[in-house]
This record gives sequence, C-alpha cells and structure tokens, in this order.
Amino acid sequence: MQTSDMFLNLGISPEVIEYSDKILESLKERFEKIDFVAESNQIKVILAMQKNKVSAACFAGTTGYGRDDLGRDTLEKVYADCFNTEAALVRPQITCGTHALAVALSANLLPGDELLSPVGRPYDTLEEVIGIRDSKCSLKEYGVSYRQVDLLPDSSFNYDGIRVAINEKTKLVTIQRSVGYRRRPTFSVAQIGELTKFIKDINPNIIVMVDNCYGEFVETIEPSDVGADMIVGSLIKNPGGGLAPVGGYICGKKELIDRCAYRLSAPGLGQEVGASLTVNTQLYQGFFLAPAVVAGALKGALFAAALYESLGFTVTPDSKQSRHDIIQCIELGSKERMLAFTKGVQAAAPVDSYFTPEPSSTPGYSDKLIMAAGTFIQGSSIELSADGPLREPYTVFFQGGLTYSHAKLGIMMSLQTMIDEGFISLEGK
Ligand SMILES: *Cc1c(COP(=O)(O)O)cnc(C)c1O
Repeated sequence: MQTSDMFLNLGISPEVIEYSDKILESLKERFEKIDFVAESNQIKVILAMQKNKVSAACFAGTTGYGRDDLGRDTLEKVYADCFNTEAALVRPQITCGTHALAVALSANLLPGDELLSPVGRPYDTLEEVIGIRDSKCSLKEYGVSYRQVDLLPDSSFNYDGIRVAINEKTKLVTIQRSVGYRRRPTFSVAQIGELTKFIKDINPNIIVMVDNCYGEFVETIEPSDVGADMIVGSLIKNPGGGLAPVGGYICGKKELIDRCAYRLSAPGLGQEVGASLTVNTQLYQGFFLAPAVVAGALKGALFAAALYESLGFTVTPDSKQSRHDIIQCIELGSKERMLAFTKGVQAAAPVDSYFTPEPSSTPGYSDKLIMAAGTFIQGSSIELSADGPLREPYTVFFQGGLTYSHAKLGIMMSLQTMIDEGFISLEGK
C-alpha cells in the first residue's frame, strides 16, 4: 500500500495530500539545515555522556532520601557539561517549568531585591509567581519588587528603557527566550547574548536568568554559552526528548544552583537528597534523543508555517525566518477555527484520538485554554500538541512531535478538519 493510501484511510483527501507534498517540496533546504543542527547537538550530548562515564550503574534509582544517587548526580554533570555551566539541578521533584522558574527566582531573590524583565510581560504562569497577579506566596508577598521594560514596537530591546529601569535594587534579570502565549518573536541565542552583555556592562553583579523553555537544541548553542548565569526549563519539553515522565532543570553558576537546591529541598540539605526513584533511564535516554526529537518538531513547525502562510494566515515565525524555538504561532482569527484546528491535531494522535478538545480553565492562566494533546506523558508539549488561550486574535500555538511523520500528519489532519468544517477551501490553490 502506498503512503497516500494510508493517508486516505485516515480521512485525508487527495487534495490535501497533493497540496502538502507541494509545500514540503519547497522546504528541502531548510530541512537539511535543521538536520545539521541536530547532528551538532547529538555529538554535544554524546560527548557530555562519555566525559562523565555514564554507565548502566547510572540507571539504577534510589528511594527514600536518595543519598549517593550516582545516576542523579552524573545526570546533573551531563547537563552542566552539555550546557556549558558550572552546575546543574535536574530533578523529577521539579514538577514543571513554572516550578523550576519559581525555584530559581525565589532562591536568588531576597526581600528588598528587585526583579527586572527587559523583554515585556513574562509567561502567563509567572504572573502569579512574581505577583503581577496577586497570589499567595508570590515574590511580591515576600517583598521582592518587579519592574518590566516592554519591547519596542518593532519587537527590539528598549535599551534606553532598560538602562533607566536598572537601579541599585535590581538583583536578577529574567529573559524569556520563547514566545509564550504572546505576540512577539522568539529571541535568538545571539540576541540574548547581546542583551546579557548590555546588562552586565551596567552592573556585572546582576544575575541573568533565561527561561529556556522550548529553546533547547534548536540552535547549536544555548544562552549559557553567551553569558547567562542560569538557564531554566522543563523536562516534558525539549530536553526530556519525550521520554522524561516529569521534571525540570536549572543549569548555571555553582553558587546560584546551590541556592536553588537549598530552596527546592531544604537549607543545609540541598543537592544531597532527592531520590531519583525509577526515572533515571528515561531522563538519560530522553536527553540523548532530544536533539533528534527537536529536529522533527522543527520540521513540523516549518511545514505548518509554510502551509498556513500559503493559505493566507499570519504565521510567526514565517516560513522564511530563522527559528529559535519549536513553537509555531498561527493566527486563526476565530474561536471556531481554533476548535477545528485543535480537533484535527487531536485526531492524528496515537493516544486519545477519539476525544475532541474542549476549552477549559487551567491553574495559572487567566483565560480559558484549548489544548489538543494526545500524549503519552500528560501535558507534554514536546509531543505533538496545539493549544492557546481563547482570546483575540485567536492564535493557536503548535509544537512538538516525537517523530516528524507524526507532526506532518497532525498538520495535514488540521487542514483536513478546517476544510471539512468549511473554514478553508483549496480550490484554485
Ligand atoms: C512552558 C513554559 C513555561 C513553563 O510551563 P509549565 O507548563 O509549567 O512547564 C514557562 N515559560 C515558557 C516560555 C514556557 O513555554
């Protein structure tokens, strides 16, 4: 049976197959570049594993206090070497990306200190962590003030504004690499490097932290290679490679990571405790696979961009722009189209394909979210997923795909559903 017949079995029409093939034909050169980056990152990961003598002994877990957990301690060295930092905290006890960021911030900001975001409003869930939206146990409640400098209308850094905002209280600067649920471009590692240098030139003691969510392995370098003191992310996104069942990481300067470990467990205990239970193999193997998984996700994102762009939708980044995270934003312009799109992506999933995504309230987010995620790991967004808050301009955020073939199928199914429900026509295309 031909692949196209297999697509027909899934309800994908010959028109959609033909149209998709045409779009994919135009992306060959870009795909080659993505493979090149993946190769470089694959070697980087292998070198870090070899240097730290990863062995079968590392895959045995510990229980209870988790003292002398060889697998956990070695994995942290592997992350630190791969991301070119002095130290790393990589733990299943870090429950998600927001938790990792909250630990990094609250460990390194004390009462009277000020936090600055020079890149506009941070990710939705950080609003309560910081206290932009009032919350119990926010940094604001503990006497940490917050300042923000918005990007200029062309999305560049407002250097003059940042210079004015930095004052004697400014202790930590947080830079979010990826777009989040906002309308702005994702920053390249080089741009983050420039901004970091600008801040360090004003005051070298300011800690620069980068929210690296969705950015890992998209380029051949990370923000920690260009001066960031801490990078933070989630293991159910890029670096978990789809296999990590839970966890987060913080990599950076040793004195900062020590504080994070004290905050995560308890003062005095730090990194010495924290049983790895049964997750070590998955964390190692996931990290090993991550460069290839990220490459597949990037190809899917690029395909989505080129396809929806050709149909007249505004997409960010567009099919020509360089990419710095795995997120593809597609402005669909209406709630109904968002529902159809996510329904199509869900229908392509290996898990829960018979469900239709429904808008729902989610802790940490102020608007209702819609999410297509037929994932093996709950909420994992390195797996193929499409989501977004139900608010103007009704942008869907498409990301992930453990294999490129699945990402491709998801996009084709989204298009098919949009056509079936009368929102798009391929006639004359
Ligand atoms: C996903 C994400 C986070 C953290 O989200 P969790 O769902 O808590 O893992 C933070 N910042 C950005 C930019 C993200 O994409």
